[in-house]
Amino acid sequence: MSFLRSDLAQLKAYVSHPGGPVQTPVDILDTNESPYDLPEDLKRLLAQHYETQIATNRYPDGGHSALKETIANYVNRSGNLTDEIQGAHISVGNGSDELIRSLLIATCLGGDGSILVAEPTFSMYRILAQTLGIKTMAITRQPEDFSWDLAAAQKAIENPQGAPVRVVFVVHPNSPTGQCLTTAEIAWLQALPTNILVVVDEAYFEFSQKTLVAEILQRPNWVVLRTFSKAFRLAALRVGYAVGNLEIIQALEKVRLPYNLPSFSQAAAQVALDHGDRLLETIPEAQREREKLHKALTQLPNFRVWPSDANFLYGRLQPAMETQDQALANLVEGLKRQGTLIRHTGGGLRISVGTPAENERTLTRLTDYLKTLN
Ligand SMILES: *Cc1c(COP(=O)(O)O)cnc(C)c1O
Repeated sequence: MSFLRSDLAQLKAYVSHPGGPVQTPVDILDTNESPYDLPEDLKRLLAQHYETQIATNRYPDGGHSALKETIANYVNRSGNLTDEIQGAHISVGNGSDELIRSLLIATCLGGDGSILVAEPTFSMYRILAQTLGIKTMAITRQPEDFSWDLAAAQKAIENPQGAPVRVVFVVHPNSPTGQCLTTAEIAWLQALPTNILVVVDEAYFEFSQKTLVAEILQRPNWVVLRTFSKAFRLAALRVGYAVGNLEIIQALEKVRLPYNLPSFSQAAAQVALDHGDRLLETIPEAQREREKLHKALTQLPNFRVWPSDANFLYGRLQPAMETQDQALANLVEGLKRQGTLIRHTGGGLRISVGTPAENERTLTRLTDYLKTLN
């Protein structure tokens, strides 16, 4: 297969549920989705829209004009802005994954730049960069609280090994570890020269209620990414958006595929925002359940769990064992056999907050499993 790029041979395709497709009934707590489907009446509303409004022989609205206006309204409300953000500040993607790829195409493609991340973090930045032949510079986080080693970050910017850093990707709050950016980290990002793009991924904004979207108004080199896949319960329909200044947004519009978002997905995102207050009524429960589960997990022997601003918790076996990764892999397998899927990533475990019943089962199963380790 000599026509294939040789660097792709080392790449593994992304697997959402390692070990095969999910068989129900099982607690799916390894992908940070909402545990709740859309309410039935909204599904009926969408079905009706599909029947009466969508001509399947016609291409979707490739400009996403109506949806972008609605998103801009939501962004303004979410950031306590008046109407500074408009449709022209928004680009819509087939999930925010598509927008991450578009940002990479628009900035670093062609050997022209590299990206900087602090790991552990969302794996798609590195994976998508790799598929485009773009180099990732990674710094590690402080083991106690997962804050950045800002001196190392500064060094990576000043002495890049290879192509200069053109983009810094941060998650606010971070996945898989759960913390929002610290004041020092935000100040460091603000001080970056404007020839470096800062991408703030706010996939979990609705759970943290902390946003940096107002920065867009002052900083031409900042972009905020959000998604409908988590709090808005639309992971199946693949809708994400970028908020940024006109030049960046126009570049994203140039490099994306012309009909990247199916009509049905556009309609679903519109319905989700039209009924946003109702859909987001589950957020306080998720926050309460997160705190409850966090507190219970801190009581477990051999286990350390960190505070989280998102809809998941991150933990590690304690004390750190030399064979931690094997021990964690066994643990994930053990829980899976009992019917709970969690994710082994970044040298730890990421556990999504589910329904109260699911969280009870997570706690029981994890407690039982940890007992077998002694
Ligand atoms: C889940 C998630 C996304 C969302 O991806 P979609 O493609 O919109 O489903 C983006 N960034 C982070 C950090 C995530 O955890």
